[in-house]
Amino acid sequence: MKNLDVYKTTWENDEVHVNVLFSAAGVGTTILLTSKFTGKMMLLDVGDGATRDLLASQENSEFINEIDLIAISHGHFDHVGGLYSLFGFMRMLGRTKPLNIIIAPNCKEVIEIIRGYRELHRTTLPFKIWYHEISPGSDFDTDFFKVKSYEVEHYSLEHSSDLEDELLEPAHGFRVQVGGTIIAYTGDTRMCSSAEMVVKDADLALIEATRKTTPESGRRVHLSTEEAEKLGALAREYRLIHTIPETK
Ligand SMILES: [Zn+2]
Repeated sequence: MKNLDVYKTTWENDEVHVNVLFSAAGVGTTILLTSKFTGKMMLLDVGDGATRDLLASQENSEFINEIDLIAISHGHFDHVGGLYSLFGFMRMLGRTKPLNIIIAPNCKEVIEIIRGYRELHRTTLPFKIWYHEISPGSDFDTDFFKVKSYEVEHYSLEHSSDLEDELLEPAHGFRVQVGGTIIAYTGDTRMCSSAEMVVKDADLALIEATRKTTPESGRRVHLSTEEAEKLGALAREYRLIHTIPETK
């Protein structure tokens, strides 16, 4: 039996509680931000098992209505795989508030999941699901969370030698302001200037550190631990997430 705690971490200050419910490359990443003043919640990515992990992290099921906003970094399965289940759980327990989801422009996977779900349940869905394609550099604010999006560089395939630019995923990193606190999340990215802008001076930076070592050649898809730590030094505090799970 493996200990899954290595894929989870928490952080908090007076204003916000950050709970990395789970983050492992190729499995799932789900991060929950909770405003301590309002109780409102925001999700950064919704990986496989998100509903189960939300239930395990809460005293009750208030998250059904208290999730105010979801930001999806990109459409890879390990970042969106739990959306369908979360919608189903919210529908089953009667969420009524509209659910806003912000994505990079043309993030097809999320658009397909949302459109398909709305169509399947169009007469019995008690809440609206809206997606917003946010152009890089722009903001999306709710009454509780202020989000700035940055276009990071993340390729679709890792082991190809002739990747074309069209294989660059629509991928965003985010800076989320809760009160006066800035939480940064790189999403999946290789080292790039946008990733630096995402994490710079953040109170907490959540940084993908998929690779244990930095490859000497080839197209870079992810950060290595060394690169992620360099980025982390730009923030006040940081946590490395999205590591490759042990499979042996
Ligand atoms: Zn990815």
